[in-house]
Amino acid sequence: LVQKAKELKKHRQSLPIFSARDVIIKEVKENACVVIVGETGSGKTTQIPQYLLESGLAAHGTIAVTQPRRVAAINLAKRVADEVGTPLGQKVGYSIRFDDSSSKDSLIKYMTDGIMLRELLSDRLLLRYSVIILDEAHERTLRTDILFGMVKSIQKQRQDLIEKGRRDIQPLKIVIMSATLDAEKFSEYFYNAKIMYISGRQFPVKILNTVEPQADYVDAALVTAFQIHQEEQQGDILIFLTGQEEIESLEKLIEEYAVDLPPSVGKLIPCPIFAAQDSATQQRIFEPAPLGTRKVILATNIAETSITIPNIRYVIDTGCHKSRGYNAKIGIESLLVEPISKSSARQRMGRAGREAPGLCFRLYTEDSFDQLEEDAIPEIKRCNLESAILSLKATGIDDVTRFDFMDRPSKSGLLRSLEHLYALEALDDQGNLTDIGKQMAAFPVDPPYAKVLLQSAKMECTKEVIEIISLLSVDSIFLAPSAKREEANEARQKFTSIDGDHLTLLNTLRAYESVKGDRDWCRENFINARHMRHVLDVRKQLIQFCERTCTPSSTFPIDPKKSCGHDLEIVLKCFLAGFFQNTALLQPDSTYKSILGGLTVSIHPSSTLFGKKREAIMYNELVFTTKHYIRGVSALESAWLPLAAPKYFGQRGA
Ligand code: ADP
Ligand code: MG
Repeated sequence: LVQKAKELKKHRQSLPIFSARDVIIKEVKENACVVIVGETGSGKTTQIPQYLLESGLAAHGTIAVTQPRRVAAINLAKRVADEVGTPLGQKVGYSIRFDDSSSKDSLIKYMTDGIMLRELLSDRLLLRYSVIILDEAHERTLRTDILFGMVKSIQKQRQDLIEKGRRDIQPLKIVIMSATLDAEKFSEYFYNAKIMYISGRQFPVKILNTVEPQADYVDAALVTAFQIHQEEQQGDILIFLTGQEEIESLEKLIEEYAVDLPPSVGKLIPCPIFAAQDSATQQRIFEPAPLGTRKVILATNIAETSITIPNIRYVIDTGCHKSRGYNAKIGIESLLVEPISKSSARQRMGRAGREAPGLCFRLYTEDSFDQLEEDAIPEIKRCNLESAILSLKATGIDDVTRFDFMDRPSKSGLLRSLEHLYALEALDDQGNLTDIGKQMAAFPVDPPYAKVLLQSAKMECTKEVIEIISLLSVDSIFLAPSAKREEANEARQKFTSIDGDHLTLLNTLRAYESVKGDRDWCRENFINARHMRHVLDVRKQLIQFCERTCTPSSTFPIDPKKSCGHDLEIVLKCFLAGFFQNTALLQPDSTYKSILGGLTVSIHPSSTLFGKKREAIMYNELVFTTKHYIRGVSALESAWLPLAAPKYFGQRGA
């Protein structure tokens, strides 16, 4: 243990940021806002909170560090707890949706930006914090952008109170951290705050583009990884993919192909990293590969700047990522697989040259690179603003159009979101938060799901609704290995409901619980056991939430145990109350057209309703790949539609 502590201390002192320690402390002490720019891996996220702690800045409150990603918040908290030398949850903790490891005594707390927005609802001046570090500012997520405006205003409010003589209130320090150089914008917004530049270490990285565009980048990544493994010197490989599904399918492919490697070549070990993963597996990415073997890390853009993985010499960049986008044509938010920006491509490349010269394989042509956007467009310019509006309104900001945004969202986007919230009955005619809206803002789920939950209390089927929402919180509970697709489909028939995916999921959960989550049963039925455990965990959290905050004496009591038994039709009606915008009607030519926007949508092959003709359908998610695919699809009766959302269908009829 002493040995480990020594090593960690040596590691800390070897980081590029260490030489700037005293200057950073001095600047933060002397200024209300500081912007710190430093290359990825220089030590910003793990070290700066510790420096501030060591210098006494946590004497009057916790140091908060916000992260756009849950996995990053967990990993960083674990690492820093190790470095500080206390168990996770004591001096150093984390807090993410459905999982809080922090305690009252935590001096450093890593948290998602979403959690900080929630805390604002109960602690308007965030008085428990002395310093708020908004990390990964360059990512410009919607929530971080809102926090910019919120903490700026809180800092001023606290200062005003202090000037009025309030002795019990301490000033708030704001630190903005970013991995890219364009920090002037942050500085300007925070009263021309000083920008500090921390240099990192960067070795040269050679870029190799493909000559032809690649039809299937997962396949191309597979081939490239094996080529590197057999031809290049030691050093691990990092592959950037777009999501969990892709990561898992490539993991399987690598395992299958690795069997055929000649004995003279060492093992190639795939190490996936994504959110729904147990922590031991996650820790593996930081541990060195056994002698004579090579790791290949499969990650999303979490590995771009949030988490620095050691020993990477080779980067394979697919050129894509999944991004949350607002489909302006139909007014629905969807996840899109999209080309990355040039600045992302450069960050990805940089990951190969942290410890030695490296190689970056771009699975796209040089021409394609030239056509990429310089920077990604901030989320606030292309996102669903509904949760954001609810948070703003719940913290007392009535006129969201006049909020001090760093980048103003489009007026039309704001109006559309306000309309949707009105249809969900979260806002009244005047645009003020209704009681329902207040309740929705406090829920740990997005507004449509919150509406579904509220509706379920009325219809007395909360048990089933919570179960389905939990099941929808993972990518998929079904495994579909390409080699055994037929078998997997057959196994799934047992659970299939003629009404579609929502009830099919529910049937599967019931079957899973009847065998108590037996592992062999999962294997035989092609059920992703890990995802199922995650589902149970989310269910537990949602039940606890209802039990604690929706008690019989509250405005909206919700009894999470209330079950509708076999009358499952009302469960679908509940979902419709939240997802009335995600509906489509069958056309005479057998296609489906969305009610909102009149878009032709196709049922995804993974859906139980694939190839089926039903009068009306509702879906959970719209994904655009080659066409507009809908996933999580259930059948409806069109007569239900106006009843489910009178404000919405009334408006449209008018
Ligand atoms: P920055 O925020 O500037 O990108 P970080 O503070 O995240 O840098 O990382 C600093 C160093 O700490 C990196 O070299 C990284 O590899 C190391 N590190 C971070 N987390 C872990 C971990 N869980 N295990 C081992 N090393 C880690
Ligand atoms: Mg960082």
